[in-house]
Amino acid sequence: MRIGTGFDLHRTGAERPLVLAGVVIPDAAISAGGVGGLVAHSDGDVVLHALTDAILGAAGQADIGDLFPDTDPRYKDADSAVLLQDAMRVALDGSFRLVNVDLTVLAERPKLKPHRAAMRARLSELLSLPAGAIGVKFTTMEGLGAIGRGEAIACQAVCLLEDLG
Ligand code: MG
Repeated sequence: MRIGTGFDLHRTGAERPLVLAGVVIPDAAISAGGVGGLVAHSDGDVVLHALTDAILGAAGQADIGDLFPDTDPRYKDADSAVLLQDAMRVALDGSFRLVNVDLTVLAERPKLKPHRAAMRARLSELLSLPAGAIGVKFTTMEGLGAIGRGEAIACQAVCLLEDLG
């Protein structure tokens, strides 16, 4: 077995949809008084970025920034689901099988709990894993620091790979 961890954080406040785990969170729109989307070269999906790094790390590969540099115009506004699946091809490469993932999203607002089922369903699709092998948890920062002020959203990820060799 191989374990991998990943972490990512992006600033809020972008005039774009907030996308977490490949799911658009509608109540985050700035026009609705929400925190807005995430500021990033890609779509800013911190959940998929942290997860991508966890999978790459478990396989002993470089990180997401190495594979998809934010200086490369090809990845401008990129769908992070596509990046995740490209990274999985590189990392798993017939040598590893993804066993489970566990994610903790750090966000003060909006409330994400109502979107948990949709996130797990989307991750199940992207990772070809049963929903029972996908943990998605949410926590606030009790109002403390940048995340606590709603200025950023972060995610930490852990995954387990089975070495098929
Ligand atoms: Mg990122």
